[in-house]
Amino acid sequence: MASSLPPPPGFLLRTGQRWRYELPAAGFIACGIGLMLGGGQRSPPLLILAVANFALMCLWARCPRCRTAVVWRVLTRASVWKWMSAVLDLRQCPACRFEGLPQDASNAGG
Ligand SMILES: [Zn+2]
Repeated sequence: MASSLPPPPGFLLRTGQRWRYELPAAGFIACGIGLMLGGGQRSPPLLILAVANFALMCLWARCPRCRTAVVWRVLTRASVWKWMSAVLDLRQCPACRFEGLPQDASNAGG
């Protein structure tokens, strides 16, 4: 029964990078709420902070093997309303199929 099952969800968790997605995501949401509470008043620093957090959220977590910004790859393919689940449900690197499983062989392939 040992068929080649797909890796379980949680690629970011397995590669120890989930916080790199959740931390800026939380910051982005906080900035968004701050901007909404500000009503008509535009707050450039808050807006810049929101954009910076969004950029971090997209680009911070990377595949340990090929350095692809995996979150960005997911976000460009999923609809806005599925971003959160799509990222957390990520099973492997969209670019090189690296599964993020701990492996003994640490060969520095070039
Ligand atoms: Zn990769």
